[in-house]
Amino acid sequence: MKTVHATELMEKVLLKNIESPNSTHIEEYRRVGGYRAIEKALRMPPQQIIAEVKSSGLRGRGGAGFPTGMKWDFASRDPKFPKFLICNADEGEPGTFKDRPILERNPHLLIEGMVISAHALRSERGYIYLRGEYPYAKVVLEKAIEEAYEAGFLGERILGGDFGFHLSVHQGAGAYICGEETALIESIEGKRGQPRIKPPFPVNVGAWGMPTVVNNVETLANIPFIVEIGGEEYSRIGNPDCPGPKLFSVSCCVERPGVYELPMGTPLKEIIYDHAGGIKGGGRLKAVIPGGISTPVLTPEKIDCPMDFVSLPKYGSMLGSGAVMVFDERVCMVKVCWRAMRFFEHESCGKCTPCREGTGWLRNILERMETGNGWKGDLELLRDIASSMAGKTFCPLGDGAAGVVLAFIKDFSEEFEYHIENKRCMVTG
Ligand code: SF4
Repeated sequence: MKTVHATELMEKVLLKNIESPNSTHIEEYRRVGGYRAIEKALRMPPQQIIAEVKSSGLRGRGGAGFPTGMKWDFASRDPKFPKFLICNADEGEPGTFKDRPILERNPHLLIEGMVISAHALRSERGYIYLRGEYPYAKVVLEKAIEEAYEAGFLGERILGGDFGFHLSVHQGAGAYICGEETALIESIEGKRGQPRIKPPFPVNVGAWGMPTVVNNVETLANIPFIVEIGGEEYSRIGNPDCPGPKLFSVSCCVERPGVYELPMGTPLKEIIYDHAGGIKGGGRLKAVIPGGISTPVLTPEKIDCPMDFVSLPKYGSMLGSGAVMVFDERVCMVKVCWRAMRFFEHESCGKCTPCREGTGWLRNILERMETGNGWKGDLELLRDIASSMAGKTFCPLGDGAAGVVLAFIKDFSEEFEYHIENKRCMVTG
C-alpha cells in the first residue's frame, strides 16, 4: 500500500472550488460533484458508514484528535433516542481561523457531511454551534441550509427515503470556553456555558441528557470525501497514524498568512517556508506556536517536525487546531506570553479555583515584567503557579494556560530575566 506523501495531495478536498464567486450556492456545489456522496451514503447501512470512518483513521480536527469513528460508535451503541449531532463551529482561539473558509465559502460541504454523519448515527436533529463573532458565516450557513431544504437534502424523507434530518444554526455569544464540548452543550440548552464533569461523556449523556456527538467543522467536512473514496483509500493520505487532509491557519510574521490545505504530517518547515512564503521581510525565525495559543511554543531547531497528532508531542508540543503562529527575532516573547495570559484570564469561566485565580495571577506577574516592574523571583513564581495549575483544573483551558507559560519560560528564560533585571525589553528596548 502506497502512502501519499505530504506534497502529493494537490487536489483540494476541504477548500475545493472556494475561489469561485458562486461557491456558496447549491448549484455550484453540485456542479463540482457536491451532494453525490450523500446519495451513496443513504444506500449504505449506518453501521457500514461508521466502519468506513473507523477504517479511514479520521481523528477529530478540533484539537483533541479523538478517533471520529470510535466516538460515533459509542453514540450509536447507546440505546437512547433521540440522538443529537452538533457541529462545533465555535472557532475562537487566537490564531485559529481554519474553519472559517468552510463556513463562509463552502457551507454545503459541511451540510453534506452533517447529513451523512446524522444518517450514520441515526440522528434526526442537528445544530451548528457558531462562533458569535462570525456574523457573515451565519448569513451564509442559513442561506445554504434553506437551499438544502428546498433541494431535498434536509427535512423529512431526504431524497425520498426513510431518513429525515433537521438542521439549524445556534449562534454563541463570544465565550471561548463554549468551544469545549460540554460547555457548548450547556450553552445550547440555554444555560451558562461552563464545562460539565466527565464521565458521563456526551456520546451517552449529552444535549438534554441524550446521546450527542459533537464534531468540529473540519472533521464533518471530511466525511463526504471518506464516503466517496472509501476509508482505506483515505487512510493512505499523509501520516497513516492520523491520516487525511488538514487545514492549517498560518499567521503572524510570514509573507503569506492564510489557510492551507495539506496532508496531515506535512513538515512545519514546509508550511512556513514553501506555502506561507517564509519570514516576513526575510527576517530570522525565533519561535513557532504550532497549534493555536494553547499549545506549547517551539524553537527553530524543531521545525522539521511533521504536523500531526502523533509527531508533535515528541517535539514537546501538540497539533491542537493546526493554527501556526510564527514569530521572528523582532518579537518580544514576554509580550506574547503576557498577551496569551490576558486571553486566558478573560476567557476562564471561573468554575474552578486553579484556573480562575491562577490565570489572573500569571497575567499580573507577566504584566509587571512587561511594563518594567518585574520583581526578583518572578520567574520562579511563574513556574510555581503554572506547575500548581497543571493537571488540577476542571477542563483543558486551565491546563493549556499553565502549559503556555511553562514552555515560554523554559525556552526563553533569558528574555524574561532581562526584563526583570533591566526593566526593559532586550528585543524592542
Ligand atoms: Fe472554567 Fe478554567 Fe476551570 Fe475550565 S479550567 S472549568 S475554563 S475555570
